[in-house]
Amino acid sequence: MFDSLSEKLQSAFKTIRGHGKLSEQNIKEALKEVRMALLEADVNFRVVKDFTERVRKRAIGREVMKSLTPGQQLIKVVNEELTELMGKESSGLSFATTPPTTLLLVGLQGSGKTTTAGKLASMLRKENHKPLMVAADVYRPAAITQLQVLGQQLQIDVYADGAEKDPRKICQKALQQANHEGFDVVLIDTAGRLHIDQELMQELRDLKALTSPQEVLFVADAMTGQDAVTVADQFNKALDVSGVVLTKLDGDARGGAALSIKAVTNRPIKFVGVGEKLDQLERFHPERMASRILGMGDVLSFIEKVEKAIDEEKAQELERKILEQAFTLQDFRDQLQQFRSMGPLDQLLEMIPGADKKALKNLQVDEKEFVRMEAIINSMTPDERLHHKIINSKRKQRIAKGSGTDIRDVNKLLKQFEQARKMMKKMTGGKGKPGFKIPRR
Ligand code: GDP
Repeated sequence: MFDSLSEKLQSAFKTIRGHGKLSEQNIKEALKEVRMALLEADVNFRVVKDFTERVRKRAIGREVMKSLTPGQQLIKVVNEELTELMGKESSGLSFATTPPTTLLLVGLQGSGKTTTAGKLASMLRKENHKPLMVAADVYRPAAITQLQVLGQQLQIDVYADGAEKDPRKICQKALQQANHEGFDVVLIDTAGRLHIDQELMQELRDLKALTSPQEVLFVADAMTGQDAVTVADQFNKALDVSGVVLTKLDGDARGGAALSIKAVTNRPIKFVGVGEKLDQLERFHPERMASRILGMGDVLSFIEKVEKAIDEEKAQELERKILEQAFTLQDFRDQLQQFRSMGPLDQLLEMIPGADKKALKNLQVDEKEFVRMEAIINSMTPDERLHHKIINSKRKQRIAKGSGTDIRDVNKLLKQFEQARKMMKKMTGGKGKPGFKIPRR
C-alpha cells in the first residue's frame, strides 16, 4: 500500500539529513521533493500546494522541537499535516436514536459497494448489531444475486425482490421488515453506473428522501486516484454524503485518493477496504494512515518518545551550558536519566533512523552500564559534580567504594563524560544544539 509514495517521501527527507539545522533553503529543497512525490501519487494539485505551504510555514517557524534532528523535525511536521489532511480524527458511524439505523451505500459500478455492504454488515454484527442488507439495484439481476450469495456466506439476512422494479418500494418494504423483525441496522446497496448519470442521481436523491438515512456512504475505488475524487465531489454535491469508504487500498501504490478526498469534499473517510476477503474492512484512522504513508513507524514512535521525555526548557538550559562550557557531571547524570526514562536502550537505539547498527554495538552502552554510571555520579559530592577537575585519586577511591565499583570504572566514567563534552561541543559547532542529539548516517 502506498509503496511508491512512501519511498519518494523518504528520499525527500534524506536530502535534509546532512544539514545541522532547518533553514529556508534546505526546507525548500526537501519540500520540492515532497511536492513531486505527492503529485506523482496523483494527489490533487491544489491540495498539494496548500499542503506544502502549510508544512513550509510550520517548519520555518520555531514550533518544532530542538531536540530532534532537522530531518526528524520535518518528518514530524509532515506527519501532522498528513494526518490533518485526512481528517485528523477518525469518524465513526452515526446511529439512529430509534432503530433501525439506515445506511445508504452509493457509488459507481465496480467500486466495491456490494462487497463493502457485506463487510460492513459483518463488522456491525460483531459489534452486536442485527443487520439487514437490502438489494436495491433493480437494473442488474446479477447484483441482487451477488448480495444474496454474500448474505449466505456471512449468514446475514438480505431483503431482495427480483420482481419489483421500483427501488423505492424495495426500500420501503425492507424498512418495514426491519421494524417487524428487530433488525437495528439496514444497509442499502444501491445501483451503480459506470459514469455519473442524472437519472441515477435523481433515484438516489429519492431514496435518500424516502429512507432518511443516518449515513450516505460514498464508496470509492482508491485505485482510480483523482477520478475517484472527482466522482466523490459530484456525488457529494448531488447527495450531501456523510462519509467515504475507500476500497482496494491494498492495490493502491500511489495514495492520491486517500490524500485528497477529504480536502476536496470535506467529508471524512470512515472505512477502508484492504482486500477482497469479507473481514478486510478497517475503520479509518488518519493518524495511523499518515505514519503508514510515511513508512516510518519507528521514526515516528521515536519522535513521540523524545517529545514525552524531553522538557524543552531543560534542553535550552542545557544548550546554554554546553555553549558556556558549563556542562557538568550533574547534567551528565540528568541526561543519562532522561535517556533511560525513554525505555529499553536497545529498542531505542534500534529506532534511531539511519543509525549505524555496528557503530552502536561498539558503543557498548547497556542498561547495566547506565545504572553503574549513575551510581558513580551519585556517590560524588555536589562540589565534585559541578567541578569534575577536582576529582583526584583519593576522591576516586572514595567514589568507587561508595558506588560499589572500582577505580577503573570511575576513570572510565570520567573519560566518557569528557568525551560527551567534546562531542557536544563539536555538534553544536558553536551555534548551539542540545546535547541530546540523535546520530545520523
Ligand atoms: P460494486 O459494483 O460497486 O458492487 O462492486 P463489487 O462489490 O462487486 O466489487 C467489485 C470488485 O472489487 C470485486 O471483485 C471485489 O472483490 C473487489 N473489491 C471490493 N473491495 C475490495 C478491496 O478492498 N480490495 C480488493 N483487492 N478488492 C476489492
